[in-house]
Amino acid sequence: MDNCIFCKINRGEINSKKYYEDEDFFIISDINPKARLHYLMIPKHHYALIGEQTEKDVEILGKMLNKLSKLAHELGLQDGYRVIINQGENGGQEVPHLHVHVLGGEKL
Ligand code: 5GP
Ligand code: ZN
Repeated sequence: MDNCIFCKINRGEINSKKYYEDEDFFIISDINPKARLHYLMIPKHHYALIGEQTEKDVEILGKMLNKLSKLAHELGLQDGYRVIINQGENGGQEVPHLHVHVLGGEKL
């Protein structure tokens, strides 16, 4: 998607430190953090909503959560974290490219 901010970060057209990256997804810090640590886990395939997923997207979302648990220590999330997906207008979703918020680094 040409104008999607997360697709642009994925393509390297907007600079953002990637804490983790594989063929399916990457992890960056949120530009406007809502907790001491606030990461975004972003699948590389562009789609907006849960429910618009291919079978592969469903599988990747599961893998992302599993990988997060393995990266928790490295990301400073060893004492726990909160995972949020804002879905659609009432969910407060601003960027129409599915992403998972991960908040931690303090007691929420
Ligand atoms: P949403 O409201 O769609 O669930 O979350 C979008 C998030 O993306 C917001 O928390 C916002 O701060 C973050 N964000 C928007 N633009 C950028 C950007 O260019 N870089 C980074 N790192 N985060 C962004
Ligand atoms: Zn996108």
